Amino acid sequence: MQIIRIVFISVVMIFALGIETVFSESPHWNHEVQANWGGLEDTSQTEVPLMYPFAECSIGKHQSPIDFAAAEIQNVGKLNELRIWYDVDKAPVFFNSGHGVQVNTSIGYRGEVEVGDELYPLIQFHFHEPSEHVVGNKNFAAELHYVHVRSDGKILVLAVAIEEDKENATFQTILDNTPEDGGGRNENTGLSIDPASLLPANYHHRGNFFRISGSLTTPPCSEGVAWYVLPEPITISAAQLAQLKGFYTNNARQAQDLNGRVILTK
Ligand SMILES: [Zn+2]
Repeated sequence: MQIIRIVFISVVMIFALGIETVFSESPHWNHEVQANWGGLEDTSQTEVPLMYPFAECSIGKHQSPIDFAAAEIQNVGKLNELRIWYDVDKAPVFFNSGHGVQVNTSIGYRGEVEVGDELYPLIQFHFHEPSEHVVGNKNFAAELHYVHVRSDGKILVLAVAIEEDKENATFQTILDNTPEDGGGRNENTGLSIDPASLLPANYHHRGNFFRISGSLTTPPCSEGVAWYVLPEPITISAAQLAQLKGFYTNNARQAQDLNGRVILTK
């Protein structure tokens, strides 16, 4: 069973990395041209649907991120709890994706979130600067995305706003070990990372959240992503924010049309 689990997780890892690597470089994209992601052409393809691999970025109707001030927030009593079961990762991979600072969890890592009777393994987490989700004109200093991928490919992203205040020790370890060059991977460092140490301090496995259906916020902008945004921010220091900007700055997508979507909360 252990071998099956490792093989399974490897397949999931390859899939998850594919989001950042395979799709991201063909065609090449960056945040400056985000208004035209949908029109970027893959010139190696001749079939029309394949020529525009990021079309969903332009024509999708459930795109992320969104502006919380523009959305109706509905209180729903019967929403499933979101339970976060992150564990310490003893062999995390510090990864510069070419678009952001990222940590890939190791093969065999057991951290996951639970919604109802569904389990979503944590595959990677990464940072945007400034935040992608906004409240009217207000951006947060940065935003953390925990990306979970289930065995059938369904994706759940847990988002945490980041404000500038006290430093976060785990974030410093990540900054100090992320390779400078896009595509660079730093593994076998002997360091451990506890993803839970980047969660708001008062989030006790079953706190409140905002739930909205959306998409990946980078090409290919695939929809069907379940978004959970925590109401409490975490903090990093001014020096840490400056160090994050040294890797990537303005790697945030603009708020997208709601098209009738509402935010659910408890
Ligand atoms: Zn993200």
